[in-house]
Amino acid sequence: MSDIGFVGLGIMGRPMSRNLLKAGYSLVVFDVFPGPVAELAEAGAAQAASCAAVAAQADVVITMLPDGPEVETAVLGPAGVLEGARPGSVIVDMSSISPMVSQKVAAACAAKGVEFLDAPVSGGEPKAIDATLAIMVGGKPEVFDRVLPILQKLGSSVTLTGAVGAGNVTKLANQIMVACNIAAMGEALVLATKAGLDPEVVFNAVKGGLAGSTVLNAKAPMVISRNFKPGFRIALHEKDLRNALLAAESMKVSLPFTSLAQQMLIALMNDGKGNLDHSAIVTFIEKMAGIEVQKPQA
Ligand code: NAD
Repeated sequence: MSDIGFVGLGIMGRPMSRNLLKAGYSLVVFDVFPGPVAELAEAGAAQAASCAAVAAQADVVITMLPDGPEVETAVLGPAGVLEGARPGSVIVDMSSISPMVSQKVAAACAAKGVEFLDAPVSGGEPKAIDATLAIMVGGKPEVFDRVLPILQKLGSSVTLTGAVGAGNVTKLANQIMVACNIAAMGEALVLATKAGLDPEVVFNAVKGGLAGSTVLNAKAPMVISRNFKPGFRIALHEKDLRNALLAAESMKVSLPFTSLAQQMLIALMNDGKGNLDHSAIVTFIEKMAGIEVQKPQA
């Protein structure tokens, strides 16, 4: 079995590392914060003093970091993963970042004989804990085959979607559909409430029809019960739409709905709502309509 390195022990990285330990892999970990490193060491992982030190002890290094700048620092920066990585080893970046950054990091890795895959995930903390994430991978098929048994310990669906960068393009496509779905749901429930209807009755009436979706089933009950505890935070979703728009601009693709959804997310962050669940997109539409989605008052 491979020795695995894991860098980035946040909301997602912590449970994912634990699942690799549970599967019997020997694991060496690092995070800029000592707290989660100590937690993983207690669970059986070895601790390293830097990203480079992780890579020096591992055949496969997984990174799970907030965004592209952190991935560039952790992989390409001083004492970064690439500094310690052996030729022939594999870096699997599971963060959701710009596909262009994935390609830049992959090129730097290739120059040192190190393989690279981008492998972002969908599913959030509950699915990271249950090891049922959906994992979207970009890279060479033979490198994918090498790390597939490891990824299968983290997710229930692991799909090679194309060359390096394709994993993050797929993830961005996912994030566009989710954000625009939530915004459309918000407009629909605001209209129904303003018309004097019970939004729960409307939700139940439409969920079995063409407008029904996983997003609707997960998020409409949160909106109706005014529970905006994350879940997936507005600030992270804004980052994903920003990356989608940057990628789209580089290809001269126009994404008007994505752009509008990103503007809503920025406004909500300025309104102090960046840490709320992304279902709180509805509050932007509510503010414009001067009404809150709620059951009719008796
Ligand atoms: P997080 O902020 O909780 O964790 C990131 C970790 O990276 C932190 O512990 C931080 O200390 C560490 N870190 C930052 N820079 C570092 C560096 N240079 N070296 C070592 N460690 C460093 O984020 P998260 O929620 O775990 O998300 C990670 C990624 O997964 C993001 O790209 C996010 O968009 C994506 N994602 C998150 C969710 C979710 O529900 N949280 C769902 C799907 C995808």
